[in-house]
Amino acid sequence: MKFCSQCGALVERRVPDGEDRERWVCPSCGTIHYENPRMVVGCIVEEQGRILLCKRAIEPRHGYWTVPAGFLELGESTVQGAIRETLEEAGANVEVISPYAHFDIPHIGQAYIFYRARLRSPEISAGPESLEVKLVTADEIPWGELAFPVVRVALELHRDDVARGGYRMHNGIVTRDAAGKYVLLEHMAAPLVG
Ligand SMILES: [Zn+2]
Repeated sequence: MKFCSQCGALVERRVPDGEDRERWVCPSCGTIHYENPRMVVGCIVEEQGRILLCKRAIEPRHGYWTVPAGFLELGESTVQGAIRETLEEAGANVEVISPYAHFDIPHIGQAYIFYRARLRSPEISAGPESLEVKLVTADEIPWGELAFPVVRVALELHRDDVARGGYRMHNGIVTRDAAGKYVLLEHMAAPLVG
């Protein structure tokens, strides 16, 4: 951030009175510009033992695979956002079955919520942000070509839940370990009914 969005003056980095960390503060009008994590919402769409994947047509990670997901918009619920992203990216009209996972990614200031969902109608098609969409079994998931570590973590847990015969609701922190490998920390899982 360089200029105040309220008055246009140059902002500066300092600790506001009564706070414990640096913020962007406008010395002209006094506005404190808070920066908080952003929420990403998406769907793991299940269709007869398959999962809906999208090949990204946009950066970051152009050409890599993901589940439909994107930033939550103001004024919508996380379920609405997940359904909207799935329609936009995969041309899929879905209904949400249950919550599935909430992952925090503190080092990039994001939190993810994934829902399990099913198709309301069989059509799927690549939207403007996708090169290709397809339904794949766990064996067919391009594990080495997934766009984001958090998506890999979600799909691995989903695969494991299917293998063990029961879905769980997952929570945890996706971060890098000392070797730079992405790992899931503080994993909590609770059985889902249905
Ligand atoms: Zn200002």
